[in-house]
Amino acid sequence: MPYCHHCRTKIDEVDVFCPECDRSLVGEDRRWQEFKLRESIDILRYRIDAYVAWATILVTVGLLIGGALLFSSYLEGLFGIAFVCFGVGFAASAKRNQRKSDTLWEQLGQFGPDTSRTAIRPGSG
Ligand SMILES: [Zn+2]
Repeated sequence: MPYCHHCRTKIDEVDVFCPECDRSLVGEDRRWQEFKLRESIDILRYRIDAYVAWATILVTVGLLIGGALLFSSYLEGLFGIAFVCFGVGFAASAKRNQRKSDTLWEQLGQFGPDTSRTAIRPGSG
């Protein structure tokens, strides 16, 4: 986990501004900051998709294995529960990254009107 070099707060590798002291972690060049924000948002989007996919797979498999408990052994039922728990964990990670993404979008909003077509906010069409 990297640290903010201004205040030593733990930061995420996708952070462009320190969540604690609000100072830039990528230098003072505004265009570079904007570029890094868009890059981080893209990274987060892939991350969120991956977490959601894994959560779906694990919960589905967990429920199937858990369901098999009814016809089979107790041990397989426990595996099912474990899979569902991991799935819920992945879903929580997806949510956490979504919040981070929202924060980055807010920071990007401070750079003025969106002139780039490379990053399109999900849901805006
Ligand atoms: Zn800081």
